[in-house]
Amino acid sequence: MRIILLGPAGSGKGTQADQIQKVYGYPKISTGDLLRKAVQDGTELGHKVKSIMEQGKLVDDEIVLELVREKIHRPECQAGYVLDGFPRNLNQGLGLEKIDSTRPETVFEILVTEEEILRRLSGRRVCLQCGAVYNINNNQPKVDGVCDLCGSRLIIREDDKPEVIKERFKIYLESIKPLVEYYQRRKVLFQIDGENTVENIFRSIKSIIDKRISEGRQSVNSK
Ligand code: AMP
Repeated sequence: MRIILLGPAGSGKGTQADQIQKVYGYPKISTGDLLRKAVQDGTELGHKVKSIMEQGKLVDDEIVLELVREKIHRPECQAGYVLDGFPRNLNQGLGLEKIDSTRPETVFEILVTEEEILRRLSGRRVCLQCGAVYNINNNQPKVDGVCDLCGSRLIIREDDKPEVIKERFKIYLESIKPLVEYYQRRKVLFQIDGENTVENIFRSIKSIIDKRISEGRQSVNSK
């Protein structure tokens, strides 16, 4: 099973991908995390994408496709995997089909308004050292500005500044529309209200995944 989570930055898709990984064992592949790691490690790729990411723009399709290709062919992804932040446009979606055409897929589109995204992301604080994420609205660190887990200083991501959040949201809506329509036509798209609680959102997602897994088993048994 391939699970794809679509949703703007701040829609909570990373949190849901973590839950899916925990319950079903499908590894989470987040292109945003992979790119941030490359920037932090100062690799050649990192230098190439740093300023694009800081402006909230999309990195070249070929670059992200290559990152995903490398991950999904690993043995731990054999039973399935969860994609977080990829594909982000139709070209990436079609590219994914080419590099892995056999898996049944389930796509979730997490719906959240721009106002809610602004509220959530402008409160986000991250630890670049260990990757922990906090929020001054609802998940504060014990000491202001300091990571509970490793004691490093927390920062606001460059792309979490309000003007960049708005730009990212605009780019998201423009680029995702044809991809959503493509998945709708293939009848693999499920829309989820992203303004519910984390637990309720996961409950909805889980019931759909369970149903899809059992449908998959039935179709194998009837062959
Ligand atoms: P995210 O953590 O998913 O919000 O991604 C952070 C940034 O990484 C984005 O604003 C883009 O610059 C870049 N990025 C992540 N995933 C992709 C993708 N699938 N296609 C293009 N750029 C991406």
